[in-house]
Amino acid sequence: MKFSWRVLVLWTLPALVIGFFFWQGAFASSPADMTKNTASTRMTYGRFLEYLDADRVTSVDLYEGGRTAIVEAVDPELDNRVQRVRVDLPMSAPELISKLKTKGISFDAHPMRNDGAIWGLLGNLIFPILLITGLFFLFRRSSNLPGGPGQAMNFGKSKARFQMEAKTGVKFDDVAGIEEAKEELQEVVTFLKQPERFTAVGARIPKGVLLVGPPGTGKTLLAKAIAGEAGVPFFSISGSEFVEMFVGVGASRVRDLFKKAKDNAPCIIFIDEIDAVGRQRGAGIGGGNDEREQTLNQLLTEMDGFEGNTGIIIIAATNRPDVLDAALLRPGRFDRQVTVDAPDIKGRLEILQVHARNKKLDKSVSLEAIARRTPGFTGADLANLLNEAAILTARRRKEGMTLAEVDDAVDRVVAGMEGTPLVDSKSKRLIAYHEVGHALIGTLLKDHDPVQKVTLIPRGQAQGLTWFTPNEEQGLISRSQLKARITGALGGRAAEDVIFGHAEVTTGAGGDLQQLSGMARQMVTRFGMSDLGPLSLESQQGEVFLGRDWTTRSEYSEAIARRIDSQVREIVEQCYDLAKQLIRENRSVTDRLVDLLIEKETIDGEEFRQIVAEYTEVPEKQQYVPQL
Ligand code: ADP
Ligand code: MG
Ligand code: ZN
Repeated sequence: MKFSWRVLVLWTLPALVIGFFFWQGAFASSPADMTKNTASTRMTYGRFLEYLDADRVTSVDLYEGGRTAIVEAVDPELDNRVQRVRVDLPMSAPELISKLKTKGISFDAHPMRNDGAIWGLLGNLIFPILLITGLFFLFRRSSNLPGGPGQAMNFGKSKARFQMEAKTGVKFDDVAGIEEAKEELQEVVTFLKQPERFTAVGARIPKGVLLVGPPGTGKTLLAKAIAGEAGVPFFSISGSEFVEMFVGVGASRVRDLFKKAKDNAPCIIFIDEIDAVGRQRGAGIGGGNDEREQTLNQLLTEMDGFEGNTGIIIIAATNRPDVLDAALLRPGRFDRQVTVDAPDIKGRLEILQVHARNKKLDKSVSLEAIARRTPGFTGADLANLLNEAAILTARRRKEGMTLAEVDDAVDRVVAGMEGTPLVDSKSKRLIAYHEVGHALIGTLLKDHDPVQKVTLIPRGQAQGLTWFTPNEEQGLISRSQLKARITGALGGRAAEDVIFGHAEVTTGAGGDLQQLSGMARQMVTRFGMSDLGPLSLESQQGEVFLGRDWTTRSEYSEAIARRIDSQVREIVEQCYDLAKQLIRENRSVTDRLVDLLIEKETIDGEEFRQIVAEYTEVPEKQQYVPQL
């Protein structure tokens, strides 16, 4: 049932107009149905009476309630041949019947054949009726009355967009690395399986659970696992599917969804990306979105509509809890919030173990090392990573996945597709100096993460890359670590500057500069790591969301703004001077590393450190190298 009413109506109108003419044409001649059983000749009434008196008439058939008659008469002038003629009778001629009787002429009255007339009437009426209906529909569809009667048409109903899975087949075992969230949700399973345990002591079972976390952390998976563990049906719909072109569709879908759920209780309703409907009402440029507000209102109404213990639990997921309407979050609705964060190193290891179950791994592969190399990866990233590695393994026709494939897959997931290396040229040399600059400073500063490898093989946008391995799980970052990172990020530009001169520096450092400027600014405005003192001057800069707080950006005066700028510049200048100084002081090892890099395309961290150590002292902290 996938059609649009607008289209239907627009096509119906021309069809109706054409149809009208057909109808009219067909019925215009309708009352003349006796032409087929009569002769074409006519006779006047007077003449008929004369014939009657002269006993020439043999039979009379009356039609149309006695207004016309088909008369059979013999004509002596024409060899007494019988002729059939039609006679129009005057309205009231009751004496005619008695006359026919006395004369003994056979006569018969035929009932009115008026179905033709009915069709004619219908033909005349059908056009206006259809036209009015059509206009009525058009009007209904385009009427923007909020909550208006247009919803009664149930347009949303025919499109059962939400999915129902009787058994999701996902268990808690399949979800790893987010233990706190799992524990919280374990209880939801008990709510569904043994509600009496809670109702017996007068507890109200929560109606809604809101899963909050970045994309790919396993929110959808968790919701499915709850349904799977509890063995209940799983209704899922995405918030964006509520919002449609037609007003009222979203609200009608919400109603429909809850109705289906009530029929199937106990069950789980999962609303993915609820921020698509659940944004604060009345927000946004140019006023709110009527449709979204209606949908949200309907959702709130439905959530209030069923009692807590009907066995329906609504799970919603979002990565923007800050934009949600407060009404959604109040007790009795989504009163439980469960945070699902990107996993830590232990969590990543567990997730890798889950996804390595069905993969063939070589003994050389240590999942722990992969977990260590992938800080910030979400569950979805890790799943994707192992899949990429498996694809590479198949492409290379290996028995099982080895370290090389995993390594390449990480590079690929983080930095993009591998490109072809440049041939030896001046620009290749420059790129080599740039990368060695990063790696050298990263090795010489004790607070910098150790180099994992340097490569001249392009990937994604980058012509060359320097990889660092975070030493341990990065929780809190110190001021000196931030400064070391800024200095390391400046290492590329510093090397270009020192070796090739001021005029020869390239655009290659653009990305580095963007990163380090961000870090330096945050040191000043968020972390209180400058002469401005421990002040938080800016909140975390999210993407600009038109609809909330888009007018309140800076909370400080012009004078402070100038001081922020000068502090940021001071930090960056200090770091840049340090970077240039380190390159100058280590010019000979830099040159040697560049030659080696151009020859080998890739130098791994261990070799790099050894070479640097031949020339100068490498800080002890840098010696610790996690195994991969
Ligand atoms: P979200 O809904 O949070 O964006 P999904 O639940 O859709 O993320 O996760 C996408 C995929 O990533 C899952 O199907 C699963 O394969 C994998 N994944 C994500 N998180 C985990 C996890 N904690 N444990 C195991 N696999 C995970
Ligand atoms: Mg999801
Ligand atoms: Zn760089």
